[in-house]
Amino acid sequence: MAPQLLTRGKVVIGLGANFPGAWGTPEATIAKALGEMGRANIGVAAVSPLYVTAAVGSARQPPYVNAVALLDTRLPPEALLRVLKAIERRSGRRAGRPWGPRTLDIDILDYGGQVRLWRRGRATFDEAGARPLTLPHPRVHERPFVLRPLLDIAPDWRHPALKRSARELWRQASKRGQGAVIKRL
Ligand code: ADP
Ligand code: MG
Repeated sequence: MAPQLLTRGKVVIGLGANFPGAWGTPEATIAKALGEMGRANIGVAAVSPLYVTAAVGSARQPPYVNAVALLDTRLPPEALLRVLKAIERRSGRRAGRPWGPRTLDIDILDYGGQVRLWRRGRATFDEAGARPLTLPHPRVHERPFVLRPLLDIAPDWRHPALKRSARELWRQASKRGQGAVIKRL
């Protein structure tokens, strides 16, 4: 098998939690999830501050705690997603309503600038529920709770499909209601 390129610090993930689970509070769950990545030989190169943010989707659910991290890994995107999904399950996440409360959600926001399943400035599949691996993540550009922590640790990041800077996307997204940043923890 050909060796994978090492995408040092070029893999960006988002973490979110708004319901206590096997690992405790949302804050504790995010900390434990990052530790579990280390145990799976995935390097955690940087972690943003934690932010409390308004839940998107069904209105009646607790606010989220969100963070963004940069990873060092030789795993290709599918294998990485499998490891991350296994960590979600161990945190106590159960399949439920899309966008309902969850102990832990981990999304691959960007994998080394790869673009998959985007066409004419839109992700091909952006509805809730099971969908093929889409890179960058279909909604990264419009979510204040992703863009704010992303700016903290990767201020020069650019959206590989839309070719727009994190700063520019944050300026637009922060004016809209959905998923607003409430405070930094
Ligand atoms: P949410 O959209 O709220 O994150 P889930 O975590 O349940 O919901 O993910 C829904 C589906 O999205 C999963 O089947 C997952 O494989 C798929 N998916 C597609 N692209 C990505 C990505 N870039 N990062 C994480 N999951 C993704
Ligand atoms: Mg997810």
